[in-house]
Amino acid sequence: MSDWRLNGQEEYLSNKTLYKITFPAFWETAYKGKNAFFQKIERYAKEHVEATNRGHEYLEGEKIQHFWHEHCEFCWEKALTDKTGTFYCTEDMYHWICEECFDDFREKFGWLVKSAEELLL
Ligand SMILES: [Zn+2]
Repeated sequence: MSDWRLNGQEEYLSNKTLYKITFPAFWETAYKGKNAFFQKIERYAKEHVEATNRGHEYLEGEKIQHFWHEHCEFCWEKALTDKTGTFYCTEDMYHWICEECFDDFREKFGWLVKSAEELLL
């Protein structure tokens, strides 16, 4: 029997390097260092505010984190910067996988794991 969570992810997630991300620590580091993850959120937030002419107040300080969330590629579990949890993401930070799905599919997909620090070098 096939798993309901599997839906063609092999095409883009097989044998990928994934980076282990723990929230909220990952966000706190990003915010302090204004690193690539912070810049990704900032870019998106600015585009959103510009396009809609709303939400300017969210561009100030830590509130900007609320412009970001992702879903697990398999079970749709939500990743948030201020919700405690562990996720695994691809190098472009585009695909996210929750811990449970990671454990279940790790062998099938042949993932290589690196640390969050390596992602932001
Ligand atoms: Zn999942």
